[in-house]
Amino acid sequence: MSISRRNFIASGAAAGAAMMTGASKASAIEVKGVDKNGKGVLNLSSQDGVIPGKTLEEKLDKMEKWGFVGVEFWGGKLWERVEQIESALKGRSIRVSAICAGFDGAPAAHEPSERRRAVESIKKILPAAGELGSTGLIIVPAFNSQTSLGVVGARYVFMDIASELGDAAKAAGTRILLEPLNRGESWYLRQLSDAAAICKEANNPGLCMMGDFYHMGVEEPCDYAAFISCRNYVHHVHLASRPHRKQPGYDQGDDFRPGFRALKEIGYQDFCSLECGIEGKPDEEIPKAVAFLRQQWEES
Ligand code: MG
Repeated sequence: MSISRRNFIASGAAAGAAMMTGASKASAIEVKGVDKNGKGVLNLSSQDGVIPGKTLEEKLDKMEKWGFVGVEFWGGKLWERVEQIESALKGRSIRVSAICAGFDGAPAAHEPSERRRAVESIKKILPAAGELGSTGLIIVPAFNSQTSLGVVGARYVFMDIASELGDAAKAAGTRILLEPLNRGESWYLRQLSDAAAICKEANNPGLCMMGDFYHMGVEEPCDYAAFISCRNYVHHVHLASRPHRKQPGYDQGDDFRPGFRALKEIGYQDFCSLECGIEGKPDEEIPKAVAFLRQQWEES
């Protein structure tokens, strides 16, 4: 479709006006400051699949022994596992941290039917995530293979459903957490500040976001700045070594301290969760990774 300069200017003005409306709405959000004394906490969690063990109970026994306080589960058919998870966690010092994806379709797919499929599928998982006390349900709006839309088109179609998703999450007592990935997996959403900008524009308390150190290693010029920029919206963190995505500390020069410093300063209270492969014997390497992370937190 061709567009005349007059139309272009008119549509630009309309977009500008829409953006102003968004900005004035967003200005009502209380902006978190930073606290140089560092009141944030390192609540360590792991995806259950990272932990060795034949049963969930066995995994949780190890996690407790190693000092984890959170566990993250896959969201696929979560409603069928709520009872089992609740019973396995009873009397333990471990809580559900976050629920990772597991829905059908893609919220920023080019096919409207795939977007609708994603919304309905996400809405089915949210009540179970809320019941388990999860900080949120992690979603990727679209992997590269799931959308032929460019960054602009994908943004528009996602914003169309952002409030519906946020409202459903809030009603379920949890959140949607947007996860930026590296460009190899998703060009649409790569940086924490962009995810935060979407949250700001949506201005919906049920729509928040997270950061994954592995992807950040590819896409962020500065971990510290990335977390500071999203301080009003960040509610989960994934941990892995960089660049190999193994247990933290595996890669030479692994340094989480600039990111941790920001999490301290913004008073981060949610979880930092292992999403990584384990090189070596998990029963030996995971406790070492925990010790490494605690030391990095102390030093940050
Ligand atoms: Mg991740």
